[in-house]
Amino acid sequence: MTENRKPHLGDYIPVVGEAKVEELLRFGEELKGLKLQQINSARHGGGVAEMLISLIPLEESLGLNVTWDVITGDPAFFSYTKTVHNFLQGKPGSLDLVGAKAYWDTNRKNYALVNEQADVVLVHDPQPAGLITFVPDDVRRRQKWIWRCHIQTSRDACLLMNPVRSLIELYDVAIYSSTRYCTWDIAPFIILPYIDPLSEKNRDLTEAEIQTVLDRHGVGDLTEKPLITLVSRFDPFKGHAFAIESFRQVRARRPCQLLMVGGTAGDDPENELILAEIKEKISGLEDVRVLNLPADSHLDINALQRASSVILQPSVKEGFGLTVTEGLWKGKPVIGGDTGGIPAQIADGYNGYLITPGEGGVAEMAERIGFLLNNPVMAREMGRRGRETVRERFLITRGLWDEMMLLKTLTR
Ligand code: UDP
Repeated sequence: MTENRKPHLGDYIPVVGEAKVEELLRFGEELKGLKLQQINSARHGGGVAEMLISLIPLEESLGLNVTWDVITGDPAFFSYTKTVHNFLQGKPGSLDLVGAKAYWDTNRKNYALVNEQADVVLVHDPQPAGLITFVPDDVRRRQKWIWRCHIQTSRDACLLMNPVRSLIELYDVAIYSSTRYCTWDIAPFIILPYIDPLSEKNRDLTEAEIQTVLDRHGVGDLTEKPLITLVSRFDPFKGHAFAIESFRQVRARRPCQLLMVGGTAGDDPENELILAEIKEKISGLEDVRVLNLPADSHLDINALQRASSVILQPSVKEGFGLTVTEGLWKGKPVIGGDTGGIPAQIADGYNGYLITPGEGGVAEMAERIGFLLNNPVMAREMGRRGRETVRERFLITRGLWDEMMLLKTLTR
């Protein structure tokens, strides 16, 4: 589908079948005209933006009146919210008062974005979560507020994070990707994330399209050196260092190449630092490259995933891991850290492999990569199963259905 044509649900019939699309259209009838405001902190970059870009036009095509607003803030704000994010995922950090002030000042300023006429306001992740505190009582009484958590919160951190807890408990419902993340006293609703099979990131590509991308990035002969790919923001939890170490072990035994594709997100101040660390780790290593791509490089990422023999996502923490879903959808075996949302997607040995997160998983990962490269028929079968896993459970039509169900439950 081209970027400038609005998607229509009918376009999804060849992928998910007519019955599912008809069900959705009937659902849409019930919610027609509902005013929904989605609020997050980045228009591009990262999984949240990725889902909203595809979801919102479909919600509109069902007759909902949807707006999408993105809060803005300065580096002090985003640095503080990244610390909160990391803390919730279990990485120790200190939450200073200056950062807290930046948080509340920024949320207060951004309250101007809130549509007081909306029936439902859906806020994503901690950055804009504070907006709810500025809603006047009369508005709050007639609006529903939903907080969607895209991160893998650690139970211990949740116990410690009383200020965040008391903020989130102001919401009517919290959406999580797994019940294991629900530790606060708020009605939980589970929606597993999803990908859009028709987006530039995931649509089918011709061999020629794939080759053009490979040439553009100077990716060498895949027959001689099969490609192993990790697509991720340059973030401390994504496991780049473990991928490099495993690759080093595999390459000592057979030819192959590793590509780490990443980018920066406007709401993530850690990217540059982690990128510098990765560059230092791979300096002098052959057949390893890191590509820092602009946020809209969807076609390039699609092609690189399709050209790969194995996809890695050795995260230490992972809210869900859309890169895993994307790899599976492209018929590739995916090796992922056994953490967060990854085991919901990978059945170990069936459509990929789960490895111990962190340093302890490096040798396992190397062994699994080696096995897949040496057994391409098995790898292809795992890939086929992976694509079916995604078709059944992780496509946007299912995500749309889940969100409609929640909206109906809350408002009708
Ligand atoms: N992504 C991208 N460019 C990059 C890195 C990631 O477009 O340089 C995309 C990736 O393809 C996926 C999303 O960003 O769609 C990342 O989602 P995921 O759930 O894996 O991780 P998050 O970044 O949300 O922690």
